[in-house]
Amino acid sequence: MPRADAADSRTPEFIDLEGRYSAHNYHPLDVVIERAEGVWVWDVDGNRYMDFLAAYSAVNQGHNHPRIVAALREQAGRLALTSRAFRNDQFGPLCRKLARLSGYDKVLMMNAGAEAVETALKAARRWGYRVKGVEQNKAEIIVFDGNFHGRTTTIVGFSADPNAYADFGPFAPGFVRVPYGDLAAVRGAINENTVAILVEPIQGEGGVIIPPENFLPGLRALCDEHRALLLCDEIQAGLGRCGSLFAHRLAGVRADGVCIGKALSGGLYPVSAFLADDAVMGVFNPGSHGSTYGGNPLACAVAGAALDVLTDEKLIERAAELGAHLGTRLRALESSPLVKAVRCVGLWAGIDLHESAGGARRYTQLLKREGLLAKGTHVHTIRLAPPLVITREELDQACDTLERVLRQPAAQAS
Ligand SMILES: *Cc1c(COP(=O)(O)O)cnc(C)c1O
Repeated sequence: MPRADAADSRTPEFIDLEGRYSAHNYHPLDVVIERAEGVWVWDVDGNRYMDFLAAYSAVNQGHNHPRIVAALREQAGRLALTSRAFRNDQFGPLCRKLARLSGYDKVLMMNAGAEAVETALKAARRWGYRVKGVEQNKAEIIVFDGNFHGRTTTIVGFSADPNAYADFGPFAPGFVRVPYGDLAAVRGAINENTVAILVEPIQGEGGVIIPPENFLPGLRALCDEHRALLLCDEIQAGLGRCGSLFAHRLAGVRADGVCIGKALSGGLYPVSAFLADDAVMGVFNPGSHGSTYGGNPLACAVAGAALDVLTDEKLIERAAELGAHLGTRLRALESSPLVKAVRCVGLWAGIDLHESAGGARRYTQLLKREGLLAKGTHVHTIRLAPPLVITREELDQACDTLERVLRQPAAQAS
């Protein structure tokens, strides 16, 4: 059992350094990780944990996947950055791989997920003015309560979470926010100036919130009816997490634009992309958008290997299969007095605790002591997202730990 509080622990010194010298923009669990492999991570005191966050699904392929590490090493020793002022031999092949895998005509490579979202917003606005014929500066984009799309000033400007937006204004206009899952509200908000609906097919940071079954098909129909683009943010939900390449495909829908990131590199490098067909991507011309590091050869080599791992190791199918098992095991927890509700899709779950349980953090701390790293989201929800390479035995082991920790009466859990 991990003992970070032992007298000879090195953990406090790292926590102290971080507290003194880093901006306090996160509130991490007190575990200092120094190495990892697959679903496992080790802290500086030699304790081993199973990683049930997987860096917010960036590590779907498992930590340090040997094939991705090899691609990174090999490419880093050959060519890392040209900028897009020149061409590089990794870029075209990666774009082709992504286009073929996703079924979209074109790819626009960026780095952080937020940049892929910004790219989608720019594409939608330009498409609105140049293709749909919306009057200059009148474009509106519909977004949802509980959204998380990143941290730029434009994006936090349409967040519903005061932690994300408070005192960072003034914000960009042109966004209309309505309740998630509420088609009638969208119908009320959509108009001739609406250029796009931006939606997470499943809200990750929101707590693994699964919308009603008719929601995404309904958005698709409204977009078709009012000539607006359906933009899906698949940065956390996509690339296998839900047991599908894209979560919105589970609803039988095709988006007009898709944002991906996180697992696109398997956790080895920040790589993101916006995917769309020519009718949308065609609005970008030289000079209209870009990024110094976007589409660099190192990113492309790493992303290529990360996508190969996803397909060759059938991780998407694996997430669907093991996800069904996870769902069964977690639903058994619903009879615990601490647990209010359980949601599970693929290898992704949100466990809502009753307010009387005293907040998710105390349980994530208990889970850490039991060798399982998970992260709360909002105050009362534990989010689970193991690397998709997890074995059934490891998954059962983690579920046993969850049973132990979440079955005890609230009073004992302090
Ligand atoms: C993480 C995330 C982002 C932002 O990605 P960054 O790489 O942190 O900028 C955007 N959308 C969703 C749904 C995410 O989960």
